[in-house]
Amino acid sequence: MEFELAEEHRMLKDLVARFVRDELTPLEPAVLKREAEGCGLGLGRDEHSRLDEVSRSLGLWGLDAPEDIGGSDLPAVAMVGVNEELARTVTPYTLPPDSPNLRMLQATVTERQKEAYLAPYVRGETVSAIGISEPGAGGDPAGMITRADRDGEDWVINGRKIWITRAADADFTILMAVTDKEKGARGGISAFLVDKGTPGFNVVRPIPMVGGAVTYEVLLEDCRVEGWKLLGTEGQGFAPMQLRLGTRRIEMAAWSIGMAQRALDMICEYAPQRTTFGQPLSQRQAIQWWVADAATKIHAARLMTYDCAWKLDQGRDVRMEISMIKAFCTEMAYEIVDHAMQTFGAMGMTKELPLQLMSAKLRTMRIYDGPTEIHKWVVARNLLGSRR
Ligand SMILES: Cc1cc2nc3c(=O)[nH]c(=O)nc-3n(C[C@H](O)[C@H](O)[C@H](O)COP(=O)(O)OP(=O)(O)OC[C@H]3O[C@@H](n4cnc5c(N)ncnc54)[C@H](O)[C@@H]3O)c2cc1C
Repeated sequence: MEFELAEEHRMLKDLVARFVRDELTPLEPAVLKREAEGCGLGLGRDEHSRLDEVSRSLGLWGLDAPEDIGGSDLPAVAMVGVNEELARTVTPYTLPPDSPNLRMLQATVTERQKEAYLAPYVRGETVSAIGISEPGAGGDPAGMITRADRDGEDWVINGRKIWITRAADADFTILMAVTDKEKGARGGISAFLVDKGTPGFNVVRPIPMVGGAVTYEVLLEDCRVEGWKLLGTEGQGFAPMQLRLGTRRIEMAAWSIGMAQRALDMICEYAPQRTTFGQPLSQRQAIQWWVADAATKIHAARLMTYDCAWKLDQGRDVRMEISMIKAFCTEMAYEIVDHAMQTFGAMGMTKELPLQLMSAKLRTMRIYDGPTEIHKWVVARNLLGSRR
């Protein structure tokens, strides 16, 4: 049994840690200030271009993309280390390309789609979105009712999607729709590549979310998509969509570990310095237990997440492990960040520290890509099976 990252994956993790320390963390005060002033969480164009330039020169693009289109094809275990480091700052930067849609495209594209969509995406030239959730179907996507009907060579999509991140900016959206109502999730849901500006793909409104994030509502009105933009096999969109969700959930577990570790580091630095009633906070059992519990839970979360990623790399079925880590790690980090905010007292309530933003991000992470309760239900359903 081996509990260490391979040498090259540890070196990559260290490299990302240096990128975060030298390039992302210095931008934090400006990011926090803009968010506090209600200007959103995004980076300025110049900031983004500079980060792209540096991360690209460090070889940090396309880490888990296929080698034949310029990626490094790294395994999931390596990406856990990368994502843990990236989450140690609230500066919002994603190393191109974002992994979940990459995995879904990789599993499904035709040669033509590979040229037109996957390759530019890997090269960091395009941004994508995913349209699954609907007003009546979020945690249970099998209940979606957006329809795609054949019309000659084309597909015509009608329906409504909601909570879609990047829908207004993405060059293309992977849109899930029902192609056979009778079969539903068992052979009746397909994925489509819908380009920005396609007539009938109407971004109705931005929806400001907790923590400075924005999602969008999208109305699909006779949205015509050419036949070759069906992604994968007709009716078989659900499995690659689950693959995509699994990729994001492992990322979210790694992000949670990174945020929890930062919060713990902040407690450990601050508690010995702050004196109340004649003693430093670090001498108080309340704080000591938060520190001990945080360290223990982060250790458990890290081992669980690496174990899940390693099993995935071995080609094993990790659906239950993914639900376990998605629920455990997001809840764990939310609690630890909350304890850090409590330790800092009034300072922990300010928008000058990153803690409130980490807390708000984690609050949304306890919902998206499946709320905690649904993941626990999945685990219990698996274990109880027919004995229920
Ligand atoms: C910041 C953010 C970004 C998002 N981005 C996207 C995106 O880009 N694309 C996209 O398609 N969607 C996106 N979503 C949607 C997200 O994935 C869904 O909101 C989420 O899956 C929950 O669906 P819902 O809101 O319909 O909640 P529901 O499914 O209505 O669930 C509501 C609550 O009911 C409880 N519950 C539901 N089912 C069960 C059960 N079986 N057992 C026990 N309790 C249960 C849970 O407590 C749950 O929180 C985003 C959401 C957020 C918050």
